Amino acid sequence: MGSTAVGAQAARRPPKAVSGTQRLFERLGLRTAADFVVHLPLRYEDETRITPVSQAQPGAHAVFEGEILSSELRLRPRRELQAVLSDGTGHLQLRWLHVYPGQQSRLKSGRPVRVRGEVRGGFHGLEIVHPLVTEPGTPLPATLTPVYPSTQGLSQASLRKAIGKALDEADLSDTLPSAVCQAYDLADFAASLRLLHHPSPDISLELLAQHSHPAWRRIKFDELLAQQLALADARAARRALKAVALQKAGALSARLLAGLPFKPTRAQQRAIVEIQQDLAVAHPMHRLLQGDVGSGKTLVAAMAAAQAIDAGVQVAVMAPTEILAEQLWRKFSEWLGPLGVPIAWLTGNLPAAARRQALQAIASGEARLAVGTQALIQDKVQFQSLGLVISDEQHRFGVGQRLALSRKGDQARFHPHQLSMSATPIPRTLAMAFFADMDVSVLDELPPGRTPVRTRLFAGARREEVLAHVAACVRQGRQAYWVCPLVEESEALQLQTAVDTWQHLCAELPDLRVGLMHGRLPAQEKADTMAAFRAGDIQLLVSTTVIEVGVDVPNASLMVIEHAERFGLAQLHQLRGRVGRGAHESTCVLLYEQPLSMVARERLRALYETTDGFEIARRDLAQRGPGELLGVRQSGQALLRFADLNDDESLLEQAREAAAWLVRDFPEQARAHQQRWMSGASQYLRS
Ligand code: ADP
Ligand code: MG
Repeated sequence: MGSTAVGAQAARRPPKAVSGTQRLFERLGLRTAADFVVHLPLRYEDETRITPVSQAQPGAHAVFEGEILSSELRLRPRRELQAVLSDGTGHLQLRWLHVYPGQQSRLKSGRPVRVRGEVRGGFHGLEIVHPLVTEPGTPLPATLTPVYPSTQGLSQASLRKAIGKALDEADLSDTLPSAVCQAYDLADFAASLRLLHHPSPDISLELLAQHSHPAWRRIKFDELLAQQLALADARAARRALKAVALQKAGALSARLLAGLPFKPTRAQQRAIVEIQQDLAVAHPMHRLLQGDVGSGKTLVAAMAAAQAIDAGVQVAVMAPTEILAEQLWRKFSEWLGPLGVPIAWLTGNLPAAARRQALQAIASGEARLAVGTQALIQDKVQFQSLGLVISDEQHRFGVGQRLALSRKGDQARFHPHQLSMSATPIPRTLAMAFFADMDVSVLDELPPGRTPVRTRLFAGARREEVLAHVAACVRQGRQAYWVCPLVEESEALQLQTAVDTWQHLCAELPDLRVGLMHGRLPAQEKADTMAAFRAGDIQLLVSTTVIEVGVDVPNASLMVIEHAERFGLAQLHQLRGRVGRGAHESTCVLLYEQPLSMVARERLRALYETTDGFEIARRDLAQRGPGELLGVRQSGQALLRFADLNDDESLLEQAREAAAWLVRDFPEQARAHQQRWMSGASQYLRS
């Protein structure tokens, strides 16, 4: 009986191992001692010395010693204990809003005390609210006091204690061989950590705050190195997989090239060859094709598809939106259809019969090429022999979706080759940090005969002028886009805005044929609208950002973007890329509302100053950080905690070099290093 009672009692109590504090630690990603030791301070407080009251600065955290001049428990306007401290150089108010028994007697006048806390400018001069009171004369800490990133309910004291304990217990031995440390002039790991947690007061707070102290450099190097090692792993894992080796360029590729009305640019030729070589190898290709809007990525993709189809496997071509998928479908049909390639079309909202038919054709292998949206990666879609997956604007797909598609291959034996295309140029640092497990081909040249787009900025008050511009452009036989303001908070509102804008423009420009395009239109209506615009039946197309990528109507030579200040830099660049696709001089008008924030002003300026996608991407990275650019802002994936891709480019380079060296000569240390850094919160982006 007794044992039952004990059991019941034990069951009522939560197991001791998961205390509330522990749960809070876990929220910060802190589980193992290794996690705690690299939980580094945000800033420091200097408690190593006594500050004379006369030198107290509002906002500073400081320690004072002196004598209580007076203290008083006030009841109005609310209960509050007040005291005045004097150290002979000045007076400091002390206030407590929560008063504990016995507290007042500790603060009797004449009593010597040491207090610490944050000084504020109060009603009666400088004050500290809720100062910590201790005995004067006790030894002061020898080092600065760390302030750690925390979470609601978790005190700095618990963090400091746990981290201090971890610093004593964790294995801080250096994972890097001394040759590597010497070659890259790296500080010792354990010493760097100890310094960052408890810096001595003579170390420059500025160097610490800017993460440029040698101790920070070591930690950032280690973080980048761990990431590079993980990427090297991913690359090695891919080399261990098998894919069908697709014979180099056969008859289909040759016929495709021969039928083109233009000659591929040198950049396209180079990319085509690079891909040809990859596909001919019995390991899955994982290549990113980067090229600014209009650089002609679709042809390169079609050449890859032709090689795969010639070699007897199926090809899937996927785009993030229906409009984009349709554009791809159009090009692929135009180029490969006449050569006898059966093409299936699959999106989420096909009628049941058409959908069944498409699935059937894909499964039987009758369709050699399937073009579509994310619908292509649903479980129900079975390919007979998927050998190549092409995804356009790949950064817009979630990482999970990309993985799902790559798994569509015959998992047991063969993995499909993967070609991703992106018009968002990825700055070098970002590519090195996050796409290093991919090979990259770059189209750094536009097809000949394009005239650069002129960008003009107009304050919203000059809308009339802009309308006249639109009318003039259409009168010359050109077409125009009018991009509606972005309403981030609500899709419904965004839609309403598009409809309103369309109605206004119809009324303001009664002699123009004005069309409306937005994401919520039924698929058929979208397709009809695009067809009408392409045919010139619609002269002015009012649209939400659904036209942001891929849309290709060469006769459209004017784009107006309303409330341009609400858009991101990359997004504006993409939008602008919809014009300047034909022989006519094109203009992009950015309408903005005042007042402009500093950031918005910088964005518009960047867009005005350059049409170079790489330069724009570089500025975008500087403004917004990598998450946004990679499209992982919402995925919750930790990118880099300490290193900064804008500031640490050369360090990243060194880490990459060192990773290769470790993998080759010090595999044990490489493993240990990754182990240390990969536990806990940090998970690096891989796809
Ligand atoms: P993006 O890289 O933005 O996807 P596209 O593949 O849509 O660019 O190409 C833009 C336009 O340029 C298309 O109309 C395409 O047919 C055309 N194009 C592609 N390559 C060439 C070339 N070498 N010479 C002339 N026009 C080309
Ligand atoms: Mg494209």
